[in-house]
Amino acid sequence: MTDTPTQLFIGGAWVDAADGATMAVDDPATGEVLCHVADAGSKDAKLAEEAAVQAQADWARTAPRVRSEILRRAYEIIIERTDELAHLMTSEMGKPLAEARGEVAYAAEFFRWFSEEAVRIDGGLATLPDGRNRMLLSRRPVGPCLLITPWNFPLAMGTRKIGPAVAAGCTMVLKPAPQTPLSSLALAAILKEAGLPDGVLNVVTTSRAGEVCEPLLRGGRIRKLSFTGSTAVGQLLLAQSAEAVVRTSMELGGNAPFIVFEDADLDKAVDGAMVAKMRNMGEACTAANRFFVHRSVAEEFGRRLAERMGALVVGPGTRDGVDVGPLIDRRGRAKVEELVADAVERGAQVLVGGRTPEGPGCFYPPTVLADVDAGSRLMDTEIFGPVAAILTFDDEDEVIRRANDTPWGLVGYVFTEGLDRALRVSERLEVGMVGLNTGLVSNPAAPFGGVKQSGLGREGGRVGIDEFLEYQYLAVPVR
Ligand code: NAD
Repeated sequence: MTDTPTQLFIGGAWVDAADGATMAVDDPATGEVLCHVADAGSKDAKLAEEAAVQAQADWARTAPRVRSEILRRAYEIIIERTDELAHLMTSEMGKPLAEARGEVAYAAEFFRWFSEEAVRIDGGLATLPDGRNRMLLSRRPVGPCLLITPWNFPLAMGTRKIGPAVAAGCTMVLKPAPQTPLSSLALAAILKEAGLPDGVLNVVTTSRAGEVCEPLLRGGRIRKLSFTGSTAVGQLLLAQSAEAVVRTSMELGGNAPFIVFEDADLDKAVDGAMVAKMRNMGEACTAANRFFVHRSVAEEFGRRLAERMGALVVGPGTRDGVDVGPLIDRRGRAKVEELVADAVERGAQVLVGGRTPEGPGCFYPPTVLADVDAGSRLMDTEIFGPVAAILTFDDEDEVIRRANDTPWGLVGYVFTEGLDRALRVSERLEVGMVGLNTGLVSNPAAPFGGVKQSGLGREGGRVGIDEFLEYQYLAVPVR
């Protein structure tokens, strides 16, 4: 996109980094540099923070209907520009155009959803148990927020945070991932066009995440951190947030179990596996990481999954007919290669894939591994690539114990035709979300999030806005 902004967005203006630094954005399909964007340092971060702090009081007083309509207009602009935004996303991130279009729709939907929620922020009046005192309850924006997003869903992870923050009346500093800054800059331009006042959203693209974010978290003016990314970085940011007691929402990593019982409909299970594994080339926090398949159907399931995975077309995401784009970068691909090599060394059978192709770009083929040893590294590491690892189990208690035997708890997938079993197993899984006979749980109208080391808080749904609001209670004695 020739007119995509490449500068920082601070106080409603496009500006260079104070020290003039820039960073390259690469195309993962070719390894070539797409363009350069501003590379913010701590001075720029302070300016962005200042703009957000200055804008907060007026923004908090803006009528909810006004905030709502800005989001609604931004939703409409995003939908109108679906193709343009999808191309931009594919060029910096690699996912096939069809998936990028899907993400544009998903991302826009957060703005539509929160445009509807902006006008439904409620309070209350109650008589306290003594019968004399009254309680007046109101809800107000938490204040200036720092939003940090990952590269795997460059647009949707931004709108999932910006939507509720705008609806609640919070100002923001957004720091996108260095691999995919362009989608966030395009989003800032759209919000400005939709009428978002200057300073409400500020975007700092940077390769120096720690230098930019740490002073903001420790400084006491940012009141809220909403982070999506790896558990390791989330833990570091939680520690940094402790000093100024910054409120946090954490959407962290996953290690999703995908459980296929002997009474499952195998057509549904294979369809579900294709989505749960292959959405975003496996580069999703919700990606099925461990396939537990009942011994009696494991061979059949593995054969059918390998057939479907082997038929997928791998190539640059912009090419027609491509199902699987490149992985984000060489480091991401090297990690997948190492995990597969480790599993194979421990006895896994490669049913399909498993070999890195020659040539430029970060491609890796859809791969199915059977008879995976439970001690393999990919059992306790997010694969973040198109690799399905199959293990077998014999009974329900055993598979629940094994599925829960991980520090993560984002999502689990359960395939069974028995209603009792579906509910029983779902209730015992230590996860924030369950896909019952489906491989897709993400939906802007549902509360997205995990338990254990997969995070704190929820995004989307009726509760998504709560993360950006504080209660204030007024005690009123009535004589
Ligand atoms: P990452 O943790 O490496 O980076 C995430 C963001 O944090 C990026 O913007 C990065 O620049 C920033 N960051 C890194 N170090 C930082 C520091 N010291 N201070 C401040 N910011 C810092 O993760 P990633 O590789 O970009 O994304 C993949 C991870 O994100 C996976 O673990 C995936 O499961 C997770 N994820 C979770 C969800 C969810 O909703 N739970 C959604 C998408 C991705």
